[in-house]
Amino acid sequence: MSKAVVLDGKAVAARVRAEVKARAAAYLEQRGRPPGLAVVKVGSDPASAVYVRNKRLACEEAGIRSFAFDLPDSIGREALVERVNALNADPTVDGILVQLPLPKGLDANEIMDLVDPAKDVDGFHPYNTGLLAQKRPRLRPCTPFGVIRLAQEYGIALHGLKATVVGASNIVGRPMALELMLAGATVTVCHSRTRNLEDEVRAAEVVVAAVGQPKMVQGEWIRPGAAVFDVGINRTADGRLVGDVDYEAAVERAAWITPVPGGIGPMTIAMLLSNTLDAATARR
Ligand code: NAP
Repeated sequence: MSKAVVLDGKAVAARVRAEVKARAAAYLEQRGRPPGLAVVKVGSDPASAVYVRNKRLACEEAGIRSFAFDLPDSIGREALVERVNALNADPTVDGILVQLPLPKGLDANEIMDLVDPAKDVDGFHPYNTGLLAQKRPRLRPCTPFGVIRLAQEYGIALHGLKATVVGASNIVGRPMALELMLAGATVTVCHSRTRNLEDEVRAAEVVVAAVGQPKMVQGEWIRPGAAVFDVGINRTADGRLVGDVDYEAAVERAAWITPVPGGIGPMTIAMLLSNTLDAATARR
């Protein structure tokens, strides 16, 4: 059997970022200011620090002004609420991203709900999730949107295909299922109480893995010719990054597969930038 086409998320993300850069330059010319993204980090989680730094750098590169807020663990609910409200009101801020997880004692749902849906570039506000569920998406969660964009770029027609999403979180699995339905796929969603995960994966022409457990989707479960999108990012004991799919075995069976790293990760940041331009353009 021939090996799968490896979907180059890094290359496609670079194309998306170049598009965003051109749109940001046009925006600056028309409106006299660059589009702006506020990235709020609370506390000292080391993984969040890396994600936030990458997002801020990506903004600067694309011609988006990045507003950085590094708030201490000790910040109280009132001060954080006040900060988000101030960003909602600031006309130079087009997008607001509050990096998750928040430190203990702060309610992430309460803070997400507070972000103006028109500036919700993560697409996590219930209003934006609701619009996606109703087939009229506006600002779409970046990781699932990145999967869809990558499939489009490689000409993978999702219409009519049987898709299985492994993972049902609010930020990946659930919106991924909504995106796949929007794209015309027939969707099964698996989670920790799914009885026979192997059968659900074996039946799928499209597999999206978003669990957070290294190699939990076994290569031999992959239906020959399937498209496999591996969202998982896991660090092994020897410091390597691996996905949720057993890549070495799956690449022998799939027709398309994303690597980790270099697959969905770079697409996520690219779609965040793209959402920021969409948000900026839509605002008056
Ligand atoms: P999460 O909130 O921990 O959700 C994990 C999901 O997996 C849950 O829905 C859980 O089910 C399900 N699950 C757990 N064990 C399972 C099992 N044995 N069989 C089937 N489903 C099982 O994680 P997340 O935030 O969605 O992230 C998932 C992975 O994607 C992580 O590795 C994360 O680092 C990565 N990620 C990558 C990107 C990117 O840019 N590439 C972005 C976001 C996340 P229940 O709902 O029943 O608990």
